[in-house]
Amino acid sequence: MNRGRERRMNIDEWKGVWVLAEQRSGRIDSVSFELIQKAKELKMQLKSSEPVTAVIIGNGIEKLTEELGEYGAEEVIVIDDPALEMFNNEIYSLILTDLIKKRKPEILLIGATISGQDIASMLGVRLGTGVATHSVGLHIDEDNNLVSAVPAFGGKVIGDIICPKHRPQIATVKPGILEKGQKMQGNKFKTIRYDPSDIIKKDKGCIKALAVHKKEYKGIPLQEAKVVVAGGFGIGSKGNWNLLRKLAQLLGGTVGCSRPVVDEGWIPDDHCMIGTSGKTIRPKLYIGFGISGSTHHVCGMKDSDVIISINKDENAPIFNVSDVGVVGDAEIILKDLIEKIEKLKSM
Ligand SMILES: Cc1cc2nc3c(=O)[nH]c(=O)nc-3n(C[C@H](O)[C@H](O)[C@H](O)COP(=O)(O)OP(=O)(O)OC[C@H]3O[C@@H](n4cnc5c(N)ncnc54)[C@H](O)[C@@H]3O)c2cc1C
Repeated sequence: MNRGRERRMNIDEWKGVWVLAEQRSGRIDSVSFELIQKAKELKMQLKSSEPVTAVIIGNGIEKLTEELGEYGAEEVIVIDDPALEMFNNEIYSLILTDLIKKRKPEILLIGATISGQDIASMLGVRLGTGVATHSVGLHIDEDNNLVSAVPAFGGKVIGDIICPKHRPQIATVKPGILEKGQKMQGNKFKTIRYDPSDIIKKDKGCIKALAVHKKEYKGIPLQEAKVVVAGGFGIGSKGNWNLLRKLAQLLGGTVGCSRPVVDEGWIPDDHCMIGTSGKTIRPKLYIGFGISGSTHHVCGMKDSDVIISINKDENAPIFNVSDVGVVGDAEIILKDLIEKIEKLKSM
């Protein structure tokens, strides 16, 4: 860390909890509402009188401020310009850096989405501060520092990260980890318009987004499914992944997986990975086959209503978070279940 900068920073000048509200094609990402709720809690823990501020950036986004207010933002900073139509980490981070240096928030919460992570790391560098990424919990300690709980060492421990000498304290949180508050129509909030045109003019245009290509997925999106049938390294093969899909289909649900399934190439991409680097889910029923229960995976599924786990090792840690544990072979139980359900359905 730059020593000169360390000497100059007076952290007492930095006040208020901010949320970077993410929007795509005019729709606010739900993680923004989850972060606003957490920002309100942090403000209370800080006993701060500063407003909870949401910052939103894009083109034609003024109309979105209302919804941020309804979820509890007390102040919304709108950065609206035709040049900001498409996400561009370079220009977005330049504008946000300028705004943050001028208004000095003490905490900035960002969703750990692909673009959120991109922006968070660039802001960390440009502002010379720390970023706690993939936080699974946030609170304020007795010295008024933000404490971010972050899984470490392959998810075996959760470390508390603080950034006591630099501001803002930046943390990213995965969508679905926190709960969003109640929507309250008619909530009063202040709107501030921030003009980014000077920075846009100065931008050398090193990075330009030319087009957006959306990936289309078939079936029920993982985060919306009521039933998730998940497979881990213990399912053993790509062939057994097809059995998993069959069971999910029979139960009217969708498939999920742990990281090794992606690494082994048993599925084409990581869109159904559950955990700290994947999705966070809260289905009514989660059935996991051959999953050991590492913190990285458990973080993403522990809030499911009912958890059933199948593992051949009776000491597998996944059983500690399961409502029902079955000690047995994944392939045999999968085939058995499919056969029985098919028989029931044909009766
Ligand atoms: C920075 C970082 C981020 C990560 N993010 C994620 C993430 O988002 N999601 C994620 O899942 N992981 C993530 N990981 C990886 C994570 O730490 C674990 O390695 C991973 O979750 C383990 O997956 P697993 O349980 O499928 O495999 P393993 O840990 O190898 O467990 C396999 C299990 O299958 C059981 N088994 C074996 N054979 C059978 C059988 N025939 N029948 C029944 N059971 C059987 C074994 O007893 C064992 O418990 C991350 C790691 C890092 C370092």
